[in-house]
Parts: sequence; structure tokens; C-alpha cells
Amino acid sequence: MSNTLLSAVTPLRPTVAQTVRLRSLMSAGEGLHSAVRLWLRAVGDGQCLPLRQALSAVAEGGSLPSVRDETFVHVPRSAHAELGESTSASLPRPWRDLLPDETFTTMLSIEARRLQRFDSPAPAGRVSPLWPLPRLPLDLAVRPLDAYHIVMDGSADPIVADLWALPDDLSVALLAQAGTHAREVESRRADLMACIQGGDLGMATELYRLAHLRPSAHEDRLAGHRPDRSRPHRVDHASLVRTTDIAGRERFQIEWTLRIPHGYLPKADIDDTLGIDLGYRRLATAASAEGRWTVERRVDVREGLPEPAAHLLAELLAHAQVRRMLLDLHRTDIEALVRRALRFRQVNLERLDWPGLIAHGDVPWCPEAMALLGAPSITDWISLLAPVSGTRVELVDPSNTSTTCHRCGGRGLRPRPYTEFVCPSCGPMDADLSGALAIRRGDVASWAN
Ligand SMILES: [Zn+2]
Repeated sequence: MSNTLLSAVTPLRPTVAQTVRLRSLMSAGEGLHSAVRLWLRAVGDGQCLPLRQALSAVAEGGSLPSVRDETFVHVPRSAHAELGESTSASLPRPWRDLLPDETFTTMLSIEARRLQRFDSPAPAGRVSPLWPLPRLPLDLAVRPLDAYHIVMDGSADPIVADLWALPDDLSVALLAQAGTHAREVESRRADLMACIQGGDLGMATELYRLAHLRPSAHEDRLAGHRPDRSRPHRVDHASLVRTTDIAGRERFQIEWTLRIPHGYLPKADIDDTLGIDLGYRRLATAASAEGRWTVERRVDVREGLPEPAAHLLAELLAHAQVRRMLLDLHRTDIEALVRRALRFRQVNLERLDWPGLIAHGDVPWCPEAMALLGAPSITDWISLLAPVSGTRVELVDPSNTSTTCHRCGGRGLRPRPYTEFVCPSCGPMDADLSGALAIRRGDVASWAN
């Protein structure tokens, strides 16, 4: 049996200035992506246009010859070679200043690999589709620094990132290399301090240099870091993704690739479906034929947290530290529930419609408060690890799951304070348990009366 590669996501919390940089980085990547695709169409159509010249034309606001989707193109071998041999020196100035070398070479090698599938003429729309760039490959140009920060080539300051907001083992996997680097810097620092103590003040300059040292991909490689392959560990692929959060605001995140070794999780062996209901009164209620398990809420956060000043790195960090503390209050219970859920062959989870909940829910603060305590992590972590255990995950439309009786399919009521569900035929039952059992049965529309 082979290992499983997972894509683990950590949200970034950049300052205003860092956001501007991330946006330029993304748009430079998008510009490069679309220029390369248009160039491939043009050379496939028999036009003579060096890649370097095409990139400069686009960077200066010009356009490339347009080739329609249905035109048959055949990209010549010489163009494959041009992709493979280009270095970031071929990038026009504005892009060269923004895009890390890693990004440029990775994007071009992805194109070159993709082209290998087309060794005879095919429609331009298939050979070189003009889709938007889904993710910007950064690979070794981005690295975890500690549980709260990443560093990116070309950025002066580290960016606050929620590296802690993953199952514990996966956060550890991301931080393994960061730890190795930190230990090396620490031991070098101790040596220098000993020299200075011994009277060699000349070493102070070296000490200052060390204080500014950021781990570089090259140094990590040279350090001969060997991850423990029997544990989850990070592989070199990492990308920047632009997305929107539950309130519809622009957000950036890093997608890391982690390798999960065979045998890390037991295979799903319980031949039943587990239904999980998320809430605020109780973060999660899971129900199967055999029983129920819950994650109880330990603190009331309906007041929310003050928004950090988006230009202050220190406030963004403090905000992350409080959020981590709130999640950590529930972490043991959440991780236990996730592990238990992954023993089931099938898990039914609520499809969370955050914007809908905010707009139409009785308690508009509820989604934010649930997110603050880590309730969505239950859904995210089970979905993330399901391929490892072989668990099938079904996302269930949660509408009516709280007002439909899981036993008879009849419509019932959830009177205030919402702790009980009352079915006219079957009587009262615990509202969260009733919700979990309804989710366990799947989409209400298919079985309710
Ligand atoms: Zn009933």
C-alpha cells in the first residue's frame, strides 16, 4: 500500500501592506500563466514568436495573437525545450521583481509536463485552455517559520498564518523543518556567545547577521534534514490560493502537500454511517446505530473578538494566539471525535452554508462564534483525512434536519431554548441528537414525509 498525499490548507492573516504584495504576486502569476498559454497557442498555430518576446509584450500591456479554441494546434518540440530551458532572467522586469524563481520554473515545468499528452494536433482549447490560474506554485519559496508565521522569498516580514489550525500531527509535520532550522540557528548563536564571552568581540557582527537570518530553502536542503517517514511529513509542493471567507471577504491561504505514510490511521472498519450535527450550544453531536458522542462547548464567545488592526503585525499575531487558545480548549475532544469518525465507512456531515446562516439565521453571530471555537475544523479535518482511512464523506444539505423527525420523517418543532425537538407522533427528544440522526439518514428531501 502506498502513502497518501494530502493538501492541507492554512489561512494567511497578512497586514495591509502584505495583502498588497500578495495581490501583486497573484496577478503577476496570473499574467505569466495566461501569457504562456497564449504563446503556446500561437506557436502551435505555426507562428514564430520567442517566449521571452511574448512575455515582454504582455508585461508591457500588449497582447498576443489570438488563436480560437477550436483551431487545431501542434506545439513544436522546440517550444517544449524553450519552456524547459527558460530561467527567470527571461522574465520581464516587473514580473521578475515579484515572482520567486521557484514559481517561474515550476509554472513552466507544469506546462511542459502537461504538453507531453499532446503529441499530435489537437484543438487549442484542449492543448492550452485559457482557464484562470487556480493556485500559484511557491514550493520552496514559502516556508513555515513557527506555528504562527510563514516566510516567503522576497518578503521582508513574516506573514501571520494559522499553521496551528490543523490536526496536531499535521501542524507538527509542517513545522518539522522550521524546527530543524531554528535549532541550527540557536546552536550557532550559543557558539558565538561563547566566543564573545571569551573576549572575541569581533563575533558580535556575526551575531547581528544571525539575528536577521531567515531559513532559506537552500540551507534547509544543505542541512540534510531527513523527515521521519513513518510520520506525516511535508513534501516540497506548496501553493498560494486566493479565496473568500465566510463573510465574503478576500482571503489568501497556503496549500501545503503532506505525505501521510501507510498505516498512520487505521482503515475504516465500522460498517455504519455516522451523522454529525454542528452547533453552538454543543459544538458537535455525532450519532451512529451504536451510540452518540459529543464535543461540549467550554467557553461562550458570542461577543466575538475585537478585529485586529490590519496594518499591525503584532495585533494580527495576538488575534491568532487567542484563536488558537480557544481552539485548543476543544482540541482534545475534536481530535478524538475526528479519529472516531474516521473508523466509520461513511460519515455524513452538514454542508455549512455560512453566508446563508449569517443572512437568514436567528442568531447572526453564531457562525463566527462557531468558527472561533473550531466547529468547522471537525468538518475540515474529517474531509482532509478521509482518503487516508478510506472513509466516504457525504455533505448533507442541513435544511430541515432540525425540524424533521429522523424516525418517522414527520415535521416537528424546536421550541425555545432549542434544546428539544418535539415530534407530534414520536414525542420529545434531544435536539442535537435528533439533528445528528437526521443528518445520518442523508438529505431530508429524499425521505421526509
Ligand atoms: Zn417522529
